[in-house]
Amino acid sequence: MQRASSQFGGYRQHDSHEFLRVLIDQLCEDFKDVALCRENKARQATDMELENMSLPFKADYWWKRHLAENSSFITDTFCGQLVSTIQCSVCKTNSYCFDPFYDVSLPFPEGNNQLGGHQQNRRKGSRPSIKPSWLSMNNNNAGDAKSCTLGDCLREFTKDEVLDGENKIECSSCRVKRTMVKRLQVFRFPQVLVLHLKRFGNSRKKIRTAVQFPITCFDASPLAYQNDTRPEYDLFAVVDHSGRMNFGHYIASCIDPQSKEWQQFNDEEVEGIGASDLNEANAYILFYKIRES
Ligand SMILES: [Zn+2]
Repeated sequence: MQRASSQFGGYRQHDSHEFLRVLIDQLCEDFKDVALCRENKARQATDMELENMSLPFKADYWWKRHLAENSSFITDTFCGQLVSTIQCSVCKTNSYCFDPFYDVSLPFPEGNNQLGGHQQNRRKGSRPSIKPSWLSMNNNNAGDAKSCTLGDCLREFTKDEVLDGENKIECSSCRVKRTMVKRLQVFRFPQVLVLHLKRFGNSRKKIRTAVQFPITCFDASPLAYQNDTRPEYDLFAVVDHSGRMNFGHYIASCIDPQSKEWQQFNDEEVEGIGASDLNEANAYILFYKIRES
């Protein structure tokens, strides 16, 4: 990992989502199927051709362009396609942009972004603890427990964003800069959907909102561009973060594919847990695999 990315040198603490990104990137590179890449190579379309392409063709075109450089079983497993729709507020002309993704970073619904002041470690006069500090940071503090559902986060992700002021964009139809409305959605769903909860968002505090996430039959359709898509997923792994913005501890929980039982990996300790033991307030990265029909 140090060779792949120098930021992971030394013994500092790191963000597991950043780690995952670098890991997946590196695996994509190392397992690249050159023959398959070549198969997906196609002639570059002209601007005129792209403008006249129907949406599904355009999506396919950009998908193949990505596969021509990135075919591998990692891509087959984790890669999906995002579409961003930008609509002119005056003439209502839509323009589309397609991007591959290997995980989706979900924002919290508004009102959850400034929360999370924990008092536990600020108590004066408490006896010094021999436990590492993260052990005493139980986030299930009923006092400031806020919660939302994973569906709320999905809807927040696809919420319209108004590009105004300095962010105005030239409309291809009006030919002048206009206020635009931007929306991000999933056009093509991956086999494994990795959802990263943005607990370390824009504010300087960690967001401690508990996120209620389904274990089975998770309906990801609020993310979908097409109304007729009903992607259903089952949870198979969770990365937990306990602690604060700059330091903390990670625990991984995964389903044993054979026994179908949950195992929790906490440093050198591995123990069986029930699905109900998964911690909604600490959940940081969720791994869902598509339901086999
Ligand atoms: Zn326009």
